[in-house]
Amino acid sequence: MSSPRPTPALLTRQVEELLQHGGPLPILAAGDPVLRGVAEPYDGQLDDALLDRFVAALRETMLAAPGVGLAAPQVGVPLSIAVVEDKARGPREALEARGRTPLPFRVLVNPSYEPEGEARAAFFEGCLSVPGWQAVAARYARVRLRGQDERGRAVDEVFAGWPARIVQHETDHLNGTLYLDVAEPRSLSSNEAVARCWSQPTAETAAEALGFELP
Ligand code: ZN
Repeated sequence: MSSPRPTPALLTRQVEELLQHGGPLPILAAGDPVLRGVAEPYDGQLDDALLDRFVAALRETMLAAPGVGLAAPQVGVPLSIAVVEDKARGPREALEARGRTPLPFRVLVNPSYEPEGEARAAFFEGCLSVPGWQAVAARYARVRLRGQDERGRAVDEVFAGWPARIVQHETDHLNGTLYLDVAEPRSLSSNEAVARCWSQPTAETAAEALGFELP
């Protein structure tokens, strides 16, 4: 899908309008074309003060949702910027099975990832742009993430376990990919069904009952 490159002036006006009311930003749901576009590489289109305010609003929106990651296109801004933060709370057995360790707040700018090794891990995940549903996605267990932070400093870091899942999910958003594109279609479950039936530490029981393959 091609669309004209948004100018810095347009992006600045869009972000200023988004921020003018304060509080969490409205999150766009699947079906909005901005979620299917490739985000523009960020190269200073917003001035530093506006970028800081935008990042703070993304974080506030993510925490309020609540979620563990949010990409700029999810609030309608087609820039390659995402925020992540996971306090990793929950039953210990599930946290351990998923490799869900705390991921301190950080900003991903122009991220890309590649797998580190062949291992994949399949668990239920959800998305703030697909409210009410979850599905099992097999993702790389370890990835090398490259990009920048919000001050333009280079990032080159290996993520494993749940943090690896989070950075893959958010980086995919910036390329117009939703987790449903990479999930097992037969695993699609409402939040109610997940809470009622699929709260086991791993997805094995769900795979057997719903009829999908695990890696
Ligand atoms: Zn998402």
